[in-house]
Amino acid sequence: MGAFLDKPKMEKQNAHGEGNDLRYGLSSMQGWRVEMEDAHTAVIGLPCGLRPWSFFAVYDGHAGSQVARYSCEHLLEHITSNPDFQGNAEPQVQADGAGDGAKEMEVEEPSVDQVKVGIRTGFLQIDEHMRQISENRKGSGSTDRSGSTAVCVMVSPQHVFFINCGDSRGLLSRGGTVHFFTHDHKPSNPLEKERIQNAGGSVMIQRVNGSLAVSRALGDFDYKCVHGKGPTEQLVSPEPDVCAVERSEVEDEFIVLACDGIWDVMANEELCDFVRSRLEVTDDLEKICNEVVDTCLYKGSRDNMSVVLVCFSGAPKVSAEAVKREQELDKYLESRVEEILKQNGEEGVPDMVHVMRTLASENIPNLPPGGELASKRSVVEAVYNKLNPFRNDDTESLTPLSWKQGKEKSS
Ligand code: MN
Repeated sequence: MGAFLDKPKMEKQNAHGEGNDLRYGLSSMQGWRVEMEDAHTAVIGLPCGLRPWSFFAVYDGHAGSQVARYSCEHLLEHITSNPDFQGNAEPQVQADGAGDGAKEMEVEEPSVDQVKVGIRTGFLQIDEHMRQISENRKGSGSTDRSGSTAVCVMVSPQHVFFINCGDSRGLLSRGGTVHFFTHDHKPSNPLEKERIQNAGGSVMIQRVNGSLAVSRALGDFDYKCVHGKGPTEQLVSPEPDVCAVERSEVEDEFIVLACDGIWDVMANEELCDFVRSRLEVTDDLEKICNEVVDTCLYKGSRDNMSVVLVCFSGAPKVSAEAVKREQELDKYLESRVEEILKQNGEEGVPDMVHVMRTLASENIPNLPPGGELASKRSVVEAVYNKLNPFRNDDTESLTPLSWKQGKEKSS
């Protein structure tokens, strides 16, 4: 499933913002895929009186982008507007003596349990809503068979609520290590498999009915029509796992949300270490996210890629020492590329594949942890292009897979 381009689309969609003592940056890139099916949300200050709260999400669509698009625009309102989320808290009207008679509405914050139940209800509600929309359209001949994962965080002053449905993933870095991460919903997980089998389905080649690689998702209504079973008992369930992590003002560093295009080629600790090392050389969060995405492409990811980075006040800070070390590394790489190119033999100027392979076999000090040489490929390529302005633009030789074999994955 999913066709590939001859050349990856490396243009990125970026955004950043700050508020509520948070800073965020995000990047998303189509990569090798023919379609871009990822979507994302970033909101600082929630509606309905929850201004100190924030919400971030990554959606990884499959078989189309409709469900991912709709979810990125409407999931948050389905969560915050349902009565379960708001609980029984009655709006309190406060008289504001200093103002011009204006009265400020203050809403009591929902409890941890209300948030958890409200999020679950919001997911089931938006899923049902999207099913209605797609059924109403059936006559028009444009049936939507798409689905989407969702990984989100709702950040309140006291908690981070991690929300996961599918195989995108979120993690929290605290005190320099991965403190928490969400668990992917794969069809072969025992509990997922049990539900699938109870609904009359099977798990083959790690997929639902040998076809779908995730066991929970929004949309995917072809997998949600088993009679006599509720919405959370179907072959594919829209029910999210919600986990409340109490915040630590001193130790919390950052949250990363990303789709499987990232996690396929980077482990939790690797991405955490890489982001930490980047935060020591720049405070530009969009730039860090772009580096993550490019690094994953060069590590062999063939999927769409999206990453959201949310930093707390305890995140690593730029240090002069780290900046200097990075500059020295770049200079060292530049001089090595020059040397490698000077050694050109009878075959003429070595191509990028040769340069990267040569560098990969060497012991280069101070490469960014988690990113390694892949995170420096653009530096190498820039010098290569500068020294070789007349080389043939041989995209084949520049494809990352040809110097480092990546695992191909078709979902
Ligand atoms: Mn994906």
